[in-house]
Amino acid sequence: MKTITLKTESKNSTIYIGKSILNNIGDICFEKLPKAKKILVVTDSNVAKIYLEKAIKILKEKDKANIYSISFEAGEKSKNLNVYSDIIKAAAMLQFTRDDAFISLGGGVCGDITGFAAATYMRGIKYIQIPTSLLAAIDASIGGKTGVDIKEGKNLIGAFWQPEAVIFDTETLKTLPEMEYKNGLGEAIKYAILDGGDICKILKTGLDENNIEDFVYLCAQSKVNIVEKDEKEGSIRALLNLGHTIGHAEEAVSEYSIQHGMAVADGILVMVHAAKKNKEITEEEYKEIKSLIEKYDVGTGINFSLDTLMPFVFHDKKAKNDGINVVVIKGIGKCEIKKMSFEEFGEYIK
Ligand code: ADP
Ligand code: ZN
Repeated sequence: MKTITLKTESKNSTIYIGKSILNNIGDICFEKLPKAKKILVVTDSNVAKIYLEKAIKILKEKDKANIYSISFEAGEKSKNLNVYSDIIKAAAMLQFTRDDAFISLGGGVCGDITGFAAATYMRGIKYIQIPTSLLAAIDASIGGKTGVDIKEGKNLIGAFWQPEAVIFDTETLKTLPEMEYKNGLGEAIKYAILDGGDICKILKTGLDENNIEDFVYLCAQSKVNIVEKDEKEGSIRALLNLGHTIGHAEEAVSEYSIQHGMAVADGILVMVHAAKKNKEITEEEYKEIKSLIEKYDVGTGINFSLDTLMPFVFHDKKAKNDGINVVVIKGIGKCEIKKMSFEEFGEYIK
């Protein structure tokens, strides 16, 4: 098992990564939630079928708190205010106090909504993330971004709220559908470009059961390094948006029929083309990044013209009033944030 401590102004959260550590959630959770007398495990319908009973059994063995659970229909569509209010109402009905806690057991959707419920129930209670998807393990569960979607846009309602712990059992990936695994790989390629080094090396050699723990650890560490310097995205946390400007636009144009990680991989491809065109990277580096995307078969091949995508870039949540912070690839392990007007960005990627 590997651990990382994420230190922010509000708290220290510990990230645990290891094979079969679902068996240890009782020890970890009660060490991190010493005052909790009630715990609400939030999960989705798919994850509930596979892991809920086991998780509850392990938590109950400690005999430290009453364990309750609530599950919602799997999928991004459930990241809405109704499910959020179901969680809040369940906690209220069960008379949860500020010492009690939530646990998210599931992918990024579950983590975001549980985190937001924890951030707002009685103005904030503790929670723990148990990510079960690759995307959630390397990205969504770390860094304290929580929220729900509304019809007008994704994550438009949210809060920064750090979990007490993140516990990732690599074995859970064994039941993750292939498409969801690939979805996580889209974000993984982002880390490979931001960091270079061993993340890139592992992806080049081939990600497998033997190196997945190291790999998730390295990606998580990469995110922790950034979040510790800039928790609320005032500056360098924006680096984590590499590929996301076009990615978000593509998700929106497709009415969210394209998965987030796939759209991000497409966005990265646009940025790497642009970097080559603008002579910011060498032909070698261009080929290296492109071959990673091809090797893992992520991305959709981008079926939308830039003219179709650009209006959605204006409306992206990350857009500022006077332009956008663009993450520019200057080499593998060398990305920079550059403020551009919409016109400049349009020119840059053309
Ligand atoms: P993401 O994690 O990509 O942000 P979700 O939380 O919606 O998005 O998870 C993606 C899908 O994978 C959901 O249908 C979820 O139920 C399913 N899922 C997550 N983890 C597992 C797992 N370990 N085994 C099987 N299905 C899983
Ligand atoms: Zn992302």
